[in-house]
Amino acid sequence: MWAASGVDDVQSRYGADVADSRINASAPLRILCQHDSGSCAACCGVDNFLDRSPTATHARLRRRSERVASAWPDADALRAVRDELLTAERSEVLFAAVKVCPFAGYVQEGRVGCLLHPSRHPTGDDLRDLSVYPKEVCAGHFCAPHDWLRPVEMDLAQSATGLAYGRVVTDAGLVKAVARALGDVLGRPLRSDDVLDCANALGELWRFLLNAWPWRDSDPARFGGFSFTGDDAVQRTLPTCLAGVCSDATAAERTILDALGTRALDESEAGAALDALRQSVAAVVAGR
Ligand code: SF4
Ligand code: SF4
Repeated sequence: MWAASGVDDVQSRYGADVADSRINASAPLRILCQHDSGSCAACCGVDNFLDRSPTATHARLRRRSERVASAWPDADALRAVRDELLTAERSEVLFAAVKVCPFAGYVQEGRVGCLLHPSRHPTGDDLRDLSVYPKEVCAGHFCAPHDWLRPVEMDLAQSATGLAYGRVVTDAGLVKAVARALGDVLGRPLRSDDVLDCANALGELWRFLLNAWPWRDSDPARFGGFSFTGDDAVQRTLPTCLAGVCSDATAAERTILDALGTRALDESEAGAALDALRQSVAAVVAGR
């Protein structure tokens, strides 16, 4: 849960006696939470909302940032702002039992991160115990993609910019499938220099897939290839969106469509969705 810049607190707890499974035993070699053009705070709950559109997310993060700035760095005032924000956002939250921290906000223009991070405090105090997690969890949790993604796949994930990056980096299956689809067009495995060469086109690809995909399931409980039910957000694997359809989709294309939260498609919709995906992927490779 490295939702801010800097490396100090991970280093300080490195090697500590760890009992909480949310806290990693050691810091990953490459921390994925922030990169030059994108940022993530998914594990702080920024996606646990009925409306996850860029507009609604931006308004929420802006309100948090302004309210926290008005109280910063007074702990009692921050506690009051926390309670005010938790109350204000309660009806917008998708799953009540999945924690949402109101201290995830804009640490810079367009960059989401931890507004309580000690690197922001005038004397380095760690106020993250005011949040919905113990500060040890805030400082020491790193999600599974840190282990699951290979270096080239991390590079590919980091071709996503802004807030869309969080959605990409937290879905290792999607990143791996897009890497495979690009490799299929290239006729060889994707390399890091390809990612560098195609940076702008890849940014466009992610924007299209994540923000403008026409076949997205409108059910807010749908996250990628899964649906979550009940306040505990119990995960249910959905049948592929191509179930029952005669399709020549590759395994990677199938994974991408499902990871985008594509609804069940009929034959003609499936053809159109696959064409759109193939054209978008081919355009990236053509633009090298
Ligand atoms: S979900 Fe993963 S990448 Fe995102 S802030 Fe949390 S630990 Fe970092
Ligand atoms: S204080 Fe909140 S925003 Fe900051 S790392 Fe912890 S959970 Fe995330």
